[in-house]
Amino acid sequence: MLLSVVIPMYNEKEVIAETYRRLTGVLVPVGVDYELIFVNDGSADGTFDVLMAAAGEDRHVKIIDFARNFGHQMAVRAGLAKSSGDAVVIIDADLQDPPEIIPGMMDKWREGYDVVYGQRVSREGETFFKKFTAFAFYRVLRALSGVDIPADTGDFRLIDRKVVEAILAMNEHGTFLRGMVSWVGFRQCPYPFKRAERFAGETKYPLKKMLKLAMDGIFSFSTAPIRFLLLGGLGMGLFGFLYWLLTLIFSWGSTHVLLSALFIFTGLLFCGMFVLGEYIGRTYEETMNRPLYLIARTVGFDDERIR
Ligand code: UDP
Ligand code: MG
Repeated sequence: MLLSVVIPMYNEKEVIAETYRRLTGVLVPVGVDYELIFVNDGSADGTFDVLMAAAGEDRHVKIIDFARNFGHQMAVRAGLAKSSGDAVVIIDADLQDPPEIIPGMMDKWREGYDVVYGQRVSREGETFFKKFTAFAFYRVLRALSGVDIPADTGDFRLIDRKVVEAILAMNEHGTFLRGMVSWVGFRQCPYPFKRAERFAGETKYPLKKMLKLAMDGIFSFSTAPIRFLLLGGLGMGLFGFLYWLLTLIFSWGSTHVLLSALFIFTGLLFCGMFVLGEYIGRTYEETMNRPLYLIARTVGFDDERIR
């Protein structure tokens, strides 16, 4: 059995030694073979050189060096693509995700779970703003999307090889991994943990990157925004129509008739935009090229591989 650990890194020079020490300290006693895949996401602080030194001393260390900063989600994706483990753990570089719970996640995996996702029961050392926006985002996303994306869950998780392959088959640019992992299904279970403080340095997720991630999450897993157009349009049209009836009943002046007409036509316009949006949305879904379904197992066929 081989365990892969994928660690995305953007300007994380200060944490490498400690992250390596803690991961190794956890994985060696477990007694399985493992690989540590560090993905250098276009760091400008010499992260790569420090990683090279580590790779020179330990054959478990592997490095993927990006040509520039492509973002956290792409770094994880590249790590998954190059991994060869029977199970893969995705973990942040800054030790906010405690490596010490990896053996517990592996126990769940051995019990038969294909995805063991870390669920934050508390967050240390983060600003009120970050905690609040994260809290709100996960709940809005859950309400909007048709996929059961668990709340308070980042990318810290253990996933089985077959789930890795399923995710890699989804070739979408707006990669939102935690949504994709939920989308593929299979047997999943949460693993509660306390999110620690960052070991060193500052967050590599400024507001702009957080917004991009949030937009990718919402637009890749929900067409609800388009539906709001229809609701708004119908509401406005109905309001205009009632308004117009009132102008008839009470013989209000032409200004009111004009206003009611404005509401009716704007409502119609919104409905038209909804129709367009619906077609564009469907084209978008087709271009994402997601598999139409995924099979967990089959029974009774000749070409079966027994697991
Ligand atoms: N990261 C990355 N590329 C980026 C931004 C972040 O690979 O463009 C990595 C970062 O090095 C860390 C993980 O993504 O390992 C999560 O980032 P961070 O801890 O800064 O986010 P936060 O915990 O503050 O949300
Ligand atoms: Mg962090």
